Amino acid sequence: MSALVQVAVPSPLYGVFDYLWTQSQAIVPGVRVAVPFGRRTVTGIIVGEIAHTDVPVEKLKPVYRVFDAEPVLPGDLMRLLEWASRYYHHPLGEVLSSALPALLRRGKPAELATQEFFRSLAGCDVQSLPARALLQRQLLRYLVDRAGQPVAAAALRAISTSWRTPVKSLMERGWVERVTSVQLPDNTAKAAAPDLLPEQASAVAAIQKSLGSFQGFLLKGVTGSGKTEVYLRCIQEAQQRGFQSLIMVPEISLTPQLMTRFEQRLSGCLVSLHSALNDSERLQSWLFAANGLADVVIGTRSSVLAPLPRLGLIIVDEEHDGSLKQQDGFRYHARDFALMRARACQCPIVLGTATPSFESLNSVRAGRLTELPLTRRAGDAVPPTLALMDIRRRKLVEGMSDRLIDAMRAHLDEQGQVLVFINRRGFAPTLLCNDCGAAADCRRCDAHMTVHVRHNRLRCHHCGSERPIPPGCESCGSTQLDRVGFGTERITDALTEQFPDTPIARIDRDSTRRKGALEAQLQRAVTGEARILVGTQMLAKGHHFPKLTLVCILDADRGLFGTDFRSLEHMGQLIVQVAGRAGRESRAGTVMIQTRNPDNPMLQTLVHEGYEAFARIAMDERKTAELPPFSFMALVRAEAADARQAHAFLQQVVQSMEQHRVGSMEILGPAPAPMERLGGRFRAQLLLQSDKRSTLNHNLAQLCTHIDHLPGSRKCRWSIDVDPVDLY
Ligand code: ADP
Ligand code: ZN
Ligand code: ZN
Repeated sequence: MSALVQVAVPSPLYGVFDYLWTQSQAIVPGVRVAVPFGRRTVTGIIVGEIAHTDVPVEKLKPVYRVFDAEPVLPGDLMRLLEWASRYYHHPLGEVLSSALPALLRRGKPAELATQEFFRSLAGCDVQSLPARALLQRQLLRYLVDRAGQPVAAAALRAISTSWRTPVKSLMERGWVERVTSVQLPDNTAKAAAPDLLPEQASAVAAIQKSLGSFQGFLLKGVTGSGKTEVYLRCIQEAQQRGFQSLIMVPEISLTPQLMTRFEQRLSGCLVSLHSALNDSERLQSWLFAANGLADVVIGTRSSVLAPLPRLGLIIVDEEHDGSLKQQDGFRYHARDFALMRARACQCPIVLGTATPSFESLNSVRAGRLTELPLTRRAGDAVPPTLALMDIRRRKLVEGMSDRLIDAMRAHLDEQGQVLVFINRRGFAPTLLCNDCGAAADCRRCDAHMTVHVRHNRLRCHHCGSERPIPPGCESCGSTQLDRVGFGTERITDALTEQFPDTPIARIDRDSTRRKGALEAQLQRAVTGEARILVGTQMLAKGHHFPKLTLVCILDADRGLFGTDFRSLEHMGQLIVQVAGRAGRESRAGTVMIQTRNPDNPMLQTLVHEGYEAFARIAMDERKTAELPPFSFMALVRAEAADARQAHAFLQQVVQSMEQHRVGSMEILGPAPAPMERLGGRFRAQLLLQSDKRSTLNHNLAQLCTHIDHLPGSRKCRWSIDVDPVDLY
C-alpha cells in the first residue's frame, strides 16, 4: 500500500484533502503538488503524511506531480498560517495560497532568475580576427579591456543590438565564456544619519535592546516627530546582528518618498513587495525574502505572509490604517498577523503611528504593548494650530466660506502652500432633478452616481459602472438638473476661478491613474511648484511637503454621523493625519476645519486637546456600548441575486448557531447590509458578538463544520469576517 498525504487545496471548502502518494521522493510538508480536484487539476500544498484516511480506496486519487524539492512555505510559517486559518475561519488551502506569489500559485518554478554575463578568456587575440569581422573585434576588445571581468549582456547589447552572433563565434573559438548568476540587489547608503532627539534615542534603545526576543511596542509619535528615523536605526542594528527586517507600509506606491528615504539610508539587499510590481518582479522579490537573501523587505499588507528565515524585526507603519485589513477572500488583519508572527519567531514588533487604533491603545492599557512616545516634531518644526470654522448661515463659494478663501489668499501672498482636503473625487456626488426630485442612481447599487465633468460621465464609486451625463432627468426629462455637493474636480475649478494665476495640483485616484502621474503630481507638490493642492485621503498618508503652511478640511462633519461604530475613530485619525501635513519645516502650519457642528464635543476635544484626549473619550463610549476593542465581533455575510436567498441562508445559520451555541454570544440579524444592493447583488449580514474571543471562535468553528451543508449555502455567496473593520 502506498503512502497517504494531506493536501491543502485552494477551494472555498473547509478542510484538507487526502491523496495517494505514488511519487518516488519523500513527502515534505510545504511543498507544492498538482492534484486532481473535481474536474480540474490544481496546485495544492502538502500539509503532511497521514496513516489513515476515511476516503474509500476506490475514490482516492494520486498526487500527479511534485513541483518543489524544498518547501516553498517553511514549517514555522505553515504553523502560523494554520493558526490564521482557524482564527479567521478561512479554508487552509486558500490561506496558504494567499501567502504565495501568483506565479507560484500557477506552478511556476520557485527559482531566482539568473542574468547572463560574458568575459574574455586567456589566449584570446583581437589582432588575429579578420579585419572585416568588425563587430567581433569591437566586442572582444570591450571584454579584454575589462580584464576578464564578467560583463552584463545589457552592456554588449548597448554596443550593438546584433551582438549575439559575433559573441557566439567568439565563444566557439574558446575566447569568450558565458556565465550566469543571480544578481542580488545591493544598495549603498548615500546619506548620513542625523543625531537622534532624546525621545527618539530612548525609543531606539528600547527596541534595539529587545532584538532577539518578543516584545510589542507602540511608537506613538506625532506627525513629523521622526518615526522613520527610529525605524531606520533599528533596522540597521538588526542588520548588524544578522536579522532580516520586515517593514509594512499602507501603500508604497502612494508614498514614493518613503522608499527613497530607505534607499538613501540603508545598505545591503533591499527589496519591496507591493501591488505595483508585475508577477515576475513580485516573484523575484519574494524569493529574495524567502531565501534569506534580502536584509530588508518593505511591503504592503501581504508581505507579512512571506517566508523570512532570518526575521528579527517587524515594523508596521501607520498601524491604524484600514488598508492593513484584507477585505475579501482571506480576511486577515496584517497588524494582528504580524503580532502573532513576532511572538512566534521571538522578535520585537513596532507599531508606529500618530493616531493609534483603539485596539492598540487598549493593548497598551492591558500591558501587551509598550508605549514609546515621540511628543515633539523633529528639527525646528512646531505642531500646527487647529481651528474650527463655523459655516452655518455663512455664504459659501462652492462649499468654501469667504473666511477660508481669505486665509488661503493670505498664505499664498506670503509664499506659503495650501492643501485643500475633500474626501470625494469627481465633480459632485449627486445629480438631482429640480422638477421631480429624482437623483441619478446606479442601476446596480443602492447609491447615487457621482458626476465626473472632466470625462462627461456619471460613475458609481461602488461598482464602477458608468454612463454619459444625461442631457435631461432620467425620470421626467426635465433639463433642470442640479449637481449637488462637492468633489475634488469642482473644488479645483472653483479655486482656479479664485486664484487664476496660481498653479494647482489635483491629487486623487482619477488624476493619478496614468502611470507616473502620481509621482509627477507629488513632485510638483514637494518642490512647491504647485501652490495649491486639492486632494482626497491619498494626500493624508505620510507625505512631507516642506512648503505647506495651510491645510483646509472642507467636510469634517461626515465622520460624525457615519453608520459604522468606527466612523468617529476614522474621522479623528483622518483629520489629525491631514493636519499633520502642515508646517513640517521651519514655517508654522495652520489647519482650518469647516464644520456645521462647531459645538460637537468630540470635534472640540480633538481640535483643542488632541488625538489622545479624543481617543480616551471615544473609547469610553465604546466600552459603555460594549463594542470592540471591548468585545469581539464577527460578521457572516451572504449575497445573492435574490435578496430572499441571502436572508434565508443567514436564517439557517442563526438556527444552527442557536442549536449549538456555547457560552454567551449575541446573534444580531440577519439584516440587510447598510448598502443592500451592490453590483446588482443583494447583501445581508449577521453580526456575532461576545465579550470573549474564545467563545466567538468556538461557535464559529462549530458553524464551519456544517455551514457547507446548510441547504441555502449553494444559492448564495457567503463569507465569514472575524474582527471586521467595515461593517458592510
Ligand atoms: P514621521 O514619520 O514621524 O511623520 P519623519 O520621520 O518623516 O516623521 O520625520 C520628519 C522630518 O524630520 C523628516 O524630514 C526627517 O528627515 C526629520 N528628522 C527626523 N529625525 C530627525 C533628527 N533626529 N534630527 C533632524 N531631523 C530629523
Ligand atoms: Zn426629473
Ligand atoms: Zn454601482
